[in-house]
Amino acid sequence: MRKFNFSSGPGIMPLSVLQQSAEGILNFDQHGISIAELPHRHPWFRDILDELIALFRELLHLSDEHEVIILQGGARIQFAQIPMNFLQKHETAGFVDTGYWAHKAMEYCRLYGDTRVLSSSENLGYRCIPQLPSGPDDIKYVHIAANNTIYGTQYRQLPTLNTPLIVDMSSEILGIRRDFSHIDLAFACAQKNIGPAGVSVVIVKKDFLALATDRVPPVFSYKNLLDQKSNYATPPVVNVYMSLLNLRWLKAHGGVDNLQQLNEQKAALLYNEIDHNALFSCPVMPADRSLMNICFSASDEAMEKSFLQFCSDNEIIGLGGHSSAGALRASLYNAQPIENVQYLVQVMREFSNRYS
Ligand code: PMP
Repeated sequence: MRKFNFSSGPGIMPLSVLQQSAEGILNFDQHGISIAELPHRHPWFRDILDELIALFRELLHLSDEHEVIILQGGARIQFAQIPMNFLQKHETAGFVDTGYWAHKAMEYCRLYGDTRVLSSSENLGYRCIPQLPSGPDDIKYVHIAANNTIYGTQYRQLPTLNTPLIVDMSSEILGIRRDFSHIDLAFACAQKNIGPAGVSVVIVKKDFLALATDRVPPVFSYKNLLDQKSNYATPPVVNVYMSLLNLRWLKAHGGVDNLQQLNEQKAALLYNEIDHNALFSCPVMPADRSLMNICFSASDEAMEKSFLQFCSDNEIIGLGGHSSAGALRASLYNAQPIENVQYLVQVMREFSNRYS
């Protein structure tokens, strides 16, 4: 039996995608070899990469303004790779401080240039998205995290700025429709809504990419990775293939618009229970509540511990909050069926009947 998996990442994947992946591990497309044995220079892998990139373009409604690059590794690598490509020692990158991942991104960025916090919700415990003052014009770019996996906050609307905008979409990509026309670079690690960990995607405006320096090792140069059509150093072939199967699944399920509607229903179901069940509460301000990561707490730590045990007894896993934030968190990525959320709500009710 499959567990009810609410982990924040690596997160749940569709069962059909896992079944197709398992077939591919044994005999990729009936070719008589495993996908794990497929050389990355083989035309079959070229087809996989081309289809994956085309699906990103289609599902995210990208225009010709943007390029799509598939990369090795996760989002932290992008925290370094972005300033490596776009920031000189004397230049400043602006950040919106929405907590942990903004801090990490700044820490990496400081190795390459200056950083400045443009706005912060620290004094509100990161329970909301801070307003961004207009017109920061002496900075190279602004870096924001669209969805804050740890605190359960998410921009309803991304800002439109005069300065280039860089968006960490790690925990929301493909789960919500975004207008890319004001985004100069977006990036995401795979392990939430794309596929297994080990792959990332970068979506970059051609105009912005033209500003990148050439003084970067080729393996970190976006220009080079694009020129090499995302196949420079050996990509994680199996993970790229599983990402492709997942995006095919997403397309077959109506694409991002349809998934967003489902995600809104799932999130509403769970927030509604948290807001009405006397045992639980959600600290996040309603206007900034995430569709993807629903953070909540019980009356005290002991109660949260018993709740997690009760969930585990009922085959539910992954509900513990991030180590830096504690409390509880349910991740409702695209592959999370609404039935699982209904089941979680039922288990929350049973728990509160028993313990309150
Ligand atoms: N940014 C965000 C918004 C994240 O949620 C995460 C991981 N949970 C990261 C960055 C870091 O990703 P990775 O572990 O792939 O470096």
